[in-house]
Amino acid sequence: MSDYTKILLEESEMPTRWYNVVPDLPTPPPPQLHPGTLQPATAEDFEAMFPKALIAQEMSQERYIDIPEEVLDVYRLWRPSPLFRARRLERLLGTPAKIFYKYEGVSPAGSHKPNTAVPQVWYNAQEGIKKLTTETGAGQWGSSLAFACAQFGLECEVWQVAASYRAKPHRRTMMEIWGGKVHPSPSDLTEFGRSLLAKDPDHPGSLGIAISEAVSEALEDKDTRYALGSVLNHVLLHQTIIGEEALLQLAKVGETPDLLVGCTGGGSNFGGLAFPFLREKLAGKINPVIRCVEPTACPTLTKGQYRYDFGDTAGLTPLMKMHTLGHSFIPEPIHAGGLRYHGMAPLVSHIYDLGLVEAIAIPQTECFAAALQFARSEGIVPAPEPTHALAATIREALACKESGEEKVILTALCGHGHLDLASYDKYMSGEMEDLDLSDEVIAAAMASVPNLA
Ligand SMILES: *Cc1c(COP(=O)(O)O)cnc(C)c1O
Repeated sequence: MSDYTKILLEESEMPTRWYNVVPDLPTPPPPQLHPGTLQPATAEDFEAMFPKALIAQEMSQERYIDIPEEVLDVYRLWRPSPLFRARRLERLLGTPAKIFYKYEGVSPAGSHKPNTAVPQVWYNAQEGIKKLTTETGAGQWGSSLAFACAQFGLECEVWQVAASYRAKPHRRTMMEIWGGKVHPSPSDLTEFGRSLLAKDPDHPGSLGIAISEAVSEALEDKDTRYALGSVLNHVLLHQTIIGEEALLQLAKVGETPDLLVGCTGGGSNFGGLAFPFLREKLAGKINPVIRCVEPTACPTLTKGQYRYDFGDTAGLTPLMKMHTLGHSFIPEPIHAGGLRYHGMAPLVSHIYDLGLVEAIAIPQTECFAAALQFARSEGIVPAPEPTHALAATIREALACKESGEEKVILTALCGHGHLDLASYDKYMSGEMEDLDLSDEVIAAAMASVPNLA
């Protein structure tokens, strides 16, 4: 296989287990806390929000969890996903580095999100739940959940961040095609939403606010639960199918990565790619550098603090120890809507705190410049979020050109950008700006974070 472009797996080679990184970590991640008692949260504390099977996965110490047959069956609509060798991009850059990207845009919703939407809906269906509520930013998660609900016959109600609801009407159409019901957030359907609209009828919303609205609706009905598209342990668990497949695919061509790069919004596509490789690294079999990439306008890992904070703006969720910019932080409306979150997956924060991974922040114009280089060489138009990983990949490939190193770089192209073309227009017409974040704005939002260790 010397001249391959993409490395494919047979359906029969698809991994049948998800990987839980927790038992392999040198120290256990700090527990989530009940917001009232500040004691470690128990399974019962989550039961109004999530089905029991997902709570068990959230707290699991098992290294591997079998993927249910019905879930594998839906996965087979687009999985195994292809791993590409970016030979055309390598040529364009003139780099001796070997660049590989795992492409998750082949799913029905066009991103990695269905990898967790499908099992989340299935486990809810098993426990007799009739309806799921959720939030969405750019609409990737809402459309993935609507697709998954259509597969198993559940209702789906989505609170979409108002700024995206107005700017990205086509994602709303996708959610509606799959039978989802979509509201702009803040909405007049919840008390919290009404309180925000009273202050500002044109409130742009945020992911934290939309989570508060979706959670409060789920808490009111015994047959309704809430689904989260990132951040939580069980979400990252479901995404590990990405890294497990990539390990098999790289083995087919006899390569081991020197560097892994992924974009981090809530940390799920990054964790999904990186955790199986981290397992091999912790076992001493490989030794790649693992790098998170975030936007300079929402620099959670690079400028946030590692503290207990809420996952939502109203403070309804358990307290999670994570890198945070403060749950009241409202990021600038950058084009990578999926990276506009104040917090980070507690598992990603923990391994970052342990020094097992590194993090950098990149401004959006550099990311879109990288996206054009990628699209013009490799052909695929990337979603705005993974352009951050591509920009970091290109930085590294150009450094290899200087040094002559033949590094093997692996990244996740976690979605396509076919519904984000307005953002490309903005960039190509020269109207896109880099939004730098002042330390004062971060300090103001951090002031609302509970004072715990
Ligand atoms: C949601 C989303 C993200 C951000 O979420 P993570 O949990 O950090 O992966 C990134 N890219 C795409 C395409 C998304 O849809």
